[in-house]
Amino acid sequence: MKTFKMVRGMRDFIPEEAEMLRLIEGKARRIAQLYGYKEIITPVVESYELLAAKTGEEVRARMYAFKDLGGRKVALRPEFTASVARLVATTMRNEPKPLRLLSIGSLYRYDEPQKGRFREFWQSNFELIGSEKPEADAEILLLTNSLMKSVGLKNYAFKIGHVGVLRGILSREGLAEETQNRALQLMDKKQYEDALSLVKDAGASEKCLTLLQKIVKVKSSNISKVLDEMKKLVENCKEAYEAVNNLAKILELVSEAQKLDITVDAGFARGLEYYTGIIFEVYVPELDIALAGGGRYDRLVELFGGEPTPAVGVAHGMDRIMLALQEQKAPLEFQGEKTVMMIPVSEALNQEALRISEILRAEGIPVEVEVMGRKVAKALEDANRRGTSYVVIVGERELKEGAVTLRNMERKEQSIVKIEELAEAIRTGPR
Ligand code: AMP
Repeated sequence: MKTFKMVRGMRDFIPEEAEMLRLIEGKARRIAQLYGYKEIITPVVESYELLAAKTGEEVRARMYAFKDLGGRKVALRPEFTASVARLVATTMRNEPKPLRLLSIGSLYRYDEPQKGRFREFWQSNFELIGSEKPEADAEILLLTNSLMKSVGLKNYAFKIGHVGVLRGILSREGLAEETQNRALQLMDKKQYEDALSLVKDAGASEKCLTLLQKIVKVKSSNISKVLDEMKKLVENCKEAYEAVNNLAKILELVSEAQKLDITVDAGFARGLEYYTGIIFEVYVPELDIALAGGGRYDRLVELFGGEPTPAVGVAHGMDRIMLALQEQKAPLEFQGEKTVMMIPVSEALNQEALRISEILRAEGIPVEVEVMGRKVAKALEDANRRGTSYVVIVGERELKEGAVTLRNMERKEQSIVKIEELAEAIRTGPR
């Protein structure tokens, strides 16, 4: 018989994995509440033109793009930000600022599959729209830190840069935005030599090339030292100097609120073209791929026909966070609900078992009913294997008294309990 394989780059989440992913999602939703972010739900399919506008060559080349049956050129979203910016530029254009928006869902990129890299992946995405202030950038960093902390990740660290520094240097040479984008994309892939020769061919001066060569090497977790070094290098370039000052202000705000593990990397660039300010990623030592990435994008909403609207955001790769937790052997601590297995001692009592199950569920207690026709001893074994907290045994004799047997699986203790007191006994009983 023919068996079917999954499409390359896709993945299934079996129950334990799906539960973990949803737990991470739950944590992200809680962070959204704590910081005042409201959810929006945008479509998986968007117009190709919208998605291609500013995602950068890297992502653009890997889009799942196709013509729909109506002949429209569409694509599966490779990221959330374009959809959010579209919404803010149109339907939500008159909403008072700031807007704090949360998106959660799956994204699609035709990446080369490898550990932690899939063609369908999951993000929680936070956007703070309408503020150009460093407090907004700081908030995005802080909420990302809160999420990483709340899922129980250890030793995670932020890598931070500012595209204003590199763009400032390139703009002063009069390089077109297109050239700048290409140079930054090469730098994103650490192809600094190629980036430099591209900039050179575009007419940049020797002085500029020397400066670029020096600045891309500036990198340290000693924040004040690295900022001083950057300032010294770009002191004659106003735009780049202001960018360093902006970065300094954001980092100062963050450090006053929380202690974060930060490395500033002046040569850090990200593939997405729309960034205009701070950019950052989050890493753990166990993986060499980023768990989250974000930055400031002040011109995107305007590009999509909206008012000039500064914005900053972050995308957390939920399945990557899950992988990092597995690597760290730090499974999410989940104090699940107490669960119940309902076992009728004979077939004649199946109906009673269903009725009592419904009473418990109406009280908010999860119940699984024995449906395999197993004898009590076998059914108890199964309940044990499943980690069920309580078993309710429905027997003729107890039922005559309006009662059942309630067994705590962990303690191996059981007692006779009246049906009307059953829910309370489970709720208040030991786990
Ligand atoms: P980006 O939009 O490229 O900045 O990505 C933001 C985050 O999404 C990354 O830091 C990853 O955690 C996650 N991510 C991006 N691409 C993939 C992928 N192919 N598979 C899994 N996660 C991804």
